Amino acid sequence: MESALVDGKRIRASALGQPPQGSPERTIRCLCCGAPTYHGGKNSSARGAYFAHAPVKAGEPDPADRCPLHSKNERRFAWLKEARRDAVTGERFRTSYLQDANLRRSFAFCLRALNSKPPMSAEVFAGLLMVADGLDLWSLPGQTVATLSALLLTLEDVRSTTGDQREIWYRYELQKPRGLKDVCLSPDQCLISKHFVNRDGSTGPLLARGQNNVIHLTQDDFDRLAGKSDWVSSGTLIAIRRRADHQIQPGAASAPAVSRPKPTPHELL
Ligand SMILES: [Zn+2]
Repeated sequence: MESALVDGKRIRASALGQPPQGSPERTIRCLCCGAPTYHGGKNSSARGAYFAHAPVKAGEPDPADRCPLHSKNERRFAWLKEARRDAVTGERFRTSYLQDANLRRSFAFCLRALNSKPPMSAEVFAGLLMVADGLDLWSLPGQTVATLSALLLTLEDVRSTTGDQREIWYRYELQKPRGLKDVCLSPDQCLISKHFVNRDGSTGPLLARGQNNVIHLTQDDFDRLAGKSDWVSSGTLIAIRRRADHQIQPGAASAPAVSRPKPTPHELL
């Protein structure tokens, strides 16, 4: 991952220097799950600096096991490996994204696109922003509120309930031309598609039409789905920003009370 919480503050791996001699050890935690994290690659010019969940002893439960930023879940983020970064622009964009008008529209867009039952909460949305922080999606060249909002939808699987109270899981996957590195600079060539998650965790078929099963990364598609967003309350925005500002830190207390059950296979729908 590109960023982590270092002594309670969000820091990019490339910006974290050596602590002064004799200073107390830093506490580095994953932005998403709060698990202990280490700073690696400091002396590698090929890979560059990064953060990763600290390994746990064999046989012991891994607190990061279900974290979207866990290395085993990185396949869906593989397209980011060769993407260029601009940290200064990224920080500016993040600040502007968290302003009322942008945050409202992005929240409304994600809620309508997911169309889950119950609807996406402020807490779930803030969790997506923490994954975006960990991956540092802000600093990709050309990133806009429209492209970022669509990419947010690809960060975690979604749980929903059918009309007869069965649980289903689905996910958005990014589809882009082979070899395209700067996704946000070519939004009209990219789309996200909404698929069922199979019982084994693999990606299943597309959801039915009318379920926002294909969304382009364009401004038009963003505007269409965000629609009017003035119904998003100030309280919702405040709750999202409290997490984004790390006033609420990840950890055991914020872990979901229920562990994720096996996904329902799409055949049962
Ligand atoms: Zn984590």
